[in-house]
Amino acid sequence: MKDEMIARRSLLRAVVGGVLAASTAALSRNAAAAANAALPALSPTDPTAVALGYGEDTTKIDGTKYPLHKATQSCSVCVQFQGTAGVARGPCNIFVGRTVNAHGWCSAWTQKPAS
Ligand code: SF4
Repeated sequence: MKDEMIARRSLLRAVVGGVLAASTAALSRNAAAAANAALPALSPTDPTAVALGYGEDTTKIDGTKYPLHKATQSCSVCVQFQGTAGVARGPCNIFVGRTVNAHGWCSAWTQKPAS
């Protein structure tokens, strides 16, 4: 009987611990998403954005101006992009305090290493 109570208590602790860990992780993800959503979008007419050739749609980047650009290069696969996979917009280390379009591009684009 005593062993059964100890086993039940251990199981309960494990379940509660797991639920708390999952809840904390979900709250952290939600807080990060909310913080990112609160950031204003980078304007393509921002002087730094213009200087780096930022565009909201990588397929519309001027290839004559940026001959090394490829349509497969986008913010979502750039090492500077801080948004999570699948988001429409996310922060960028180059344009601090703004979000960039996941399908955007600028001349600072650098391939995100495979994880
Ligand atoms: Fe997009 Fe990368 Fe340029 Fe930031 S540095 S705007 S993530 S291409």
